[in-house]
Amino acid sequence: MWDASKCDYCGDCLVRCRYVDYDRDRAAREIKLLMEGQAADILGSCITCNACVQTCPTGADPADLIYTLQEKTGASPIIAGFKPFIDAVIQGFEEGGAGIIVEGEANKPVLSLDSFGIKQFPKGTMESRMFKGMTVVRGKPYASLVGMCHMGGASLTARYAQKVIEGLSALGKDIVYLHNEGYVLAHVKAKELGIDVPYRYMHLFEYLLDYLKSNAGDITPLNRKIAYQPNCAARWIPHQDAWLDEIFDRIGVKRVSRKYEGVDALCCGGPALAVNRELAAKIQNDNIWDARDNQAEALVTICPMCDLVLGAPTAKAGLPKIFITDICRMALGEAPWPATAN
Ligand code: SF4
Ligand code: SF4
Repeated sequence: MWDASKCDYCGDCLVRCRYVDYDRDRAAREIKLLMEGQAADILGSCITCNACVQTCPTGADPADLIYTLQEKTGASPIIAGFKPFIDAVIQGFEEGGAGIIVEGEANKPVLSLDSFGIKQFPKGTMESRMFKGMTVVRGKPYASLVGMCHMGGASLTARYAQKVIEGLSALGKDIVYLHNEGYVLAHVKAKELGIDVPYRYMHLFEYLLDYLKSNAGDITPLNRKIAYQPNCAARWIPHQDAWLDEIFDRIGVKRVSRKYEGVDALCCGGPALAVNRELAAKIQNDNIWDARDNQAEALVTICPMCDLVLGAPTAKAGLPKIFITDICRMALGEAPWPATAN
């Protein structure tokens, strides 16, 4: 959440932004304009990659300020395109539509898919021994909401977070978030909004790590080098990296060292598609060839949207793309390592 008291106009956030070319003075001027609620160039240029959540050294969260003003002023090409979708989400919450619940075994936690469909995760995910028997919930009432900032719906988190938390709480079980935006809502945004989360919840990586620890004897190390593609929500929860590193250690996977990793990771290009297709393609190309040039044997994704938009460009570059749950399934002998495209 934007905190003006933490901003010292250093300009770091927008100097480091990969989607504009501002010097420090220009960046500081832009931030000042935003703080005064005035028209600022960045509102039309920001592709909502979320990087400046992390690059701001004081934790002021400039991305939140930008997203809020993008929604309020409509000064972004993203907003107009997604308006019908955002209106439908609001209508769904106001009318109290039901979500989809696939009942599982009583003693197992709930797997929340947020608003994603089962088919948006790799084939066989729900049948994996890692998730078998879990109750699965999905649909608008269980939406993570935080991703709406990519579509001009930044205010929806504050408006409907309470409803989502209550809906998940009503299930009366522990929640495992298959997508990290749900975890962000419970772990970061609910706290910022002063909303109590009355159930136990786990990030997918925590769950996978526990599973791999409990089934260590069933793991065959993959002995592979990979590049990792964090999604934009990862910027809110950098502590998830420690879980991921331990997962990779346990399944015999090493991250290659490359230019676009950590704070310098590139966005999957998805949000940029709505603003500038040429720019989106360039981001994807730079990212994928950085992975290939550093000898990665696959790109590991953690978000269905990243996975979708990177499908064609990774295939074109001959770099296999593997979702995080699938690479664990490979180490457990449930799935083969993918063939290289070329
Ligand atoms: S969210 Fe990304 S694109 Fe937008 S200003 Fe911040 S770093 Fe730049
Ligand atoms: S939001 Fe953060 S990085 Fe940006 S100008 Fe303010 S303090 Fe500096």
